[in-house]
Amino acid sequence: MARISFENVNKNYANGFHAVKDLNLEIHDKEFLVLLGPSGCGKSTTLNMIAGLEEVSDGALRFDDQMVNYVPPHKRDVAMVFQSYALYPHKTVFDNIAFGLQMRKQPKSEIERRVRDAARKLEIEHLLDRRPGQLSGGQRQRVALGRAMVRDPAVFLMDEPLSNLDAALRISMRAEIKELHEAMQTTFVYVTHDQAEALTLADRIVVMRDGEVQQIGTSDDIYERPANTFVASFLGNPPINYIDGEIEVRGEAEAVFQHPSVTLTLPPEMARKLSGAQGRRVRLGIRAEDVDERGDGAEGHLIHGTVNSVLPVGSDQFLGMEFGGAELFFRVGKGMRHKNGEAIALTVDVNRLHVFDAETGASLL
Ligand code: ATP
Repeated sequence: MARISFENVNKNYANGFHAVKDLNLEIHDKEFLVLLGPSGCGKSTTLNMIAGLEEVSDGALRFDDQMVNYVPPHKRDVAMVFQSYALYPHKTVFDNIAFGLQMRKQPKSEIERRVRDAARKLEIEHLLDRRPGQLSGGQRQRVALGRAMVRDPAVFLMDEPLSNLDAALRISMRAEIKELHEAMQTTFVYVTHDQAEALTLADRIVVMRDGEVQQIGTSDDIYERPANTFVASFLGNPPINYIDGEIEVRGEAEAVFQHPSVTLTLPPEMARKLSGAQGRRVRLGIRAEDVDERGDGAEGHLIHGTVNSVLPVGSDQFLGMEFGGAELFFRVGKGMRHKNGEAIALTVDVNRLHVFDAETGASLL
C-alpha cells in the first residue's frame, strides 16, 4: 500500500530558487498519476522529493501516514526509471536488471527467478547476455523498466522514460507502461511534458507551471474543463484558439459572446453560470476540433473568416483562418477541399466553448 501526500511542500534550491511552491497533493494507492508541464515547472523536483533524491525544504511529505522527509532513498521502497535509463555499460542486461537485488544480497535463485520473470514480461529474455551498447533505444528502455520491476516497489517513479524513443515506439511503449501498471498494482508517478502521453496514461494529471499546481484532474477534467488559459493552451493539437470579447447577458439563461466580427449564442447552462457577468471582458476558447466546416449552423453559431493555410495531416487537415486580424487554427475532416483566400463559415459547437476571465485567465464556467 502506498499513498503519498504532500502537505504545503516547498522546495528551495541552495541558490535560493523556489522550484516547488506550496504543493498540496494526495496520490492515491495504486493510482497512475502524471505530473505534466513545460520544462522547468518543477515536475522532476517533485518526483525527486518522492524518491528522496531532493530534500523537502518545508512542509510534510508522507507515505501512508509516515512522514518521510528525512528517510533516505533506499529505505523508501520506491524504484525510479530515468530518461537516460542509467544502465551500466559494462554489465550484461541480466546483471543490469539484477543489480538492485544483488546489492540487497538476495539469494541467487530468487534473483534468477525475478529477472527471468521480468524479462519474459518485457519480451527481452533473448537479450539477457547482451550489453546495453548492443541494444536499441526501446530495448534499453525495457531493461531500465525491468530493473525497477524486479524490486517490486511500493511506488514506481518515472521521469520522461520515453523521451529518447522515436514516435512510433513511444506510442507502443505507452501501452506497455499502462499494462505494466495494471499488472503491478502499485502507485505510479510519471513525469512528462508530452500532453498525449499524459492523457493516455493518467488516472489523474497534475498540471504545473513555475512550481505551482494549475489543476489536478482526470484527462477529461483537464481537457474538457481546463481551470485556466494556461491549462487550456497546454493541451490540444493544434492548440486552442482564443477570441477576446465581452459577455452580454440577455436573460436568465440567455447570454452571448460579443466581438466586433462575431456574436456567438451561449447555451443556457453556460449562460446561467455567466448571469452575473454582464459586460465582463472575457477570452473565449474554441478548441481546434470544435467546429464544423460545412458552415450550415444557425445564426449565433457561425464564425466567418478567410482561409490562409491548409495543411493535410493524415486523416484530417489543419485549417488556418484569418479572423479579425488574428489567425485561428482548426482541425477538420478531409471531406472538403479549401483554397487560400477562400471565404469560409465555420459552425462552432457552442456547447464546447470555454470562457475565461480576460485578465486572470481563470475559467468562468
Ligand atoms: P524538465 O522537463 O526540463 O526536466 P522540470 O519541470 O522537471 O523540467 P525541474 O527539473 O523540477 O523542472 O526544475 C525546476 C526548476 O528548478 C528549474 O527552473 C530548474 O532550473 C531549477 N533547478 C533544478 N535543479 C536545481 C538545482 N540543483 N539548483 C538550482 N535550481 C535548480
